[in-house]
Amino acid sequence: MSEGVIDLHTHTTCSDGSASPERLIELARAKGARAVAITDHDTVAAFPEARAAADRFGIEFVCGIEISAEYSPGTMHILGYCVDDASKAFTEKLDELKRAREERNPQIASRLQALGLDVDYDEVVRVAGNEVVGRPHFARVMVEKGYAASIKDAFDKYLKKGAAAYIEKARLSPADSIALIRNAGGVAVLAHPYQLNLSSAEELEGLIAELVEGGLDGIEALYSRHSPAQRASYVEIAERHELLVTGGSDYHGSYKPDISIVDGLGDLEIPYGLLEAVKLRAPGGSLVPA
Ligand code: AMP
Ligand code: ZN
Ligand code: FE
Ligand code: FE
Repeated sequence: MSEGVIDLHTHTTCSDGSASPERLIELARAKGARAVAITDHDTVAAFPEARAAADRFGIEFVCGIEISAEYSPGTMHILGYCVDDASKAFTEKLDELKRAREERNPQIASRLQALGLDVDYDEVVRVAGNEVVGRPHFARVMVEKGYAASIKDAFDKYLKKGAAAYIEKARLSPADSIALIRNAGGVAVLAHPYQLNLSSAEELEGLIAELVEGGLDGIEALYSRHSPAQRASYVEIAERHELLVTGGSDYHGSYKPDISIVDGLGDLEIPYGLLEAVKLRAPGGSLVPA
């Protein structure tokens, strides 16, 4: 039985979403989803609460992760599905990525202060409230203090790549990001490819071929901010490379206020069958409960 819709890209309060794991599961169920993946940045902290909530609300929970890879000029994120959070090698590497944030984050605060903004890193940590502190938390504090009109405005003015308070953080290479996920029994998927900022189809082809060489399993073609034409074109590329097609909203609650869970900007409809294909391809797939 393959009926039903799903959402394979969401964030909780464990990273930079505004909904707790339990609340997120409840919201996905209320939207009629049959399955939902939580894909927090660099952490699997949401899983225990999410598993319990999924049991209670009668929805399938998929263990996910989102890793930021070294890349320019745009942004490359790699999603992992069906990852084993009991793998020590996996969680230790995630801890390293969190430490890289702890290196970067105080520097963002210093840079903002140098620009004349009264933003204390302790306040940002308080707003984040949980283990992974990210730029959206800085943005929230800046909005609260009147330095920006919205989260997006804070990114545009100060936080996005190339802006005055942008600081690089240590990242894994694309190949190492993929290997991290696959070695944890998971399936590795290129997230929201429009954010790569590639200017030609040839460049994208070359990059996908390279990532496939590194073990890439799929492409997130069905993404809330992809146009219908982009979705079709990424599906075509995935099929040509015998890759999985996945999809998700990238729900962050109030940190991305225009994006709803499950249906994105209103037009997302991700079929359950895509998740069945993910589970079949997972190296540790047989361990994943149906
Ligand atoms: P970080 O992991 O701390 O580097 O922050 C990444 C997060 O910031 C992701 O959730 C992105 O969706 C969010 N983000 C990146 N660029 C922007 C932007 N221009 N506007 C709003 N959010 C953004
Ligand atoms: Zn995020
Ligand atoms: Fe992302
Ligand atoms: Fe995301």
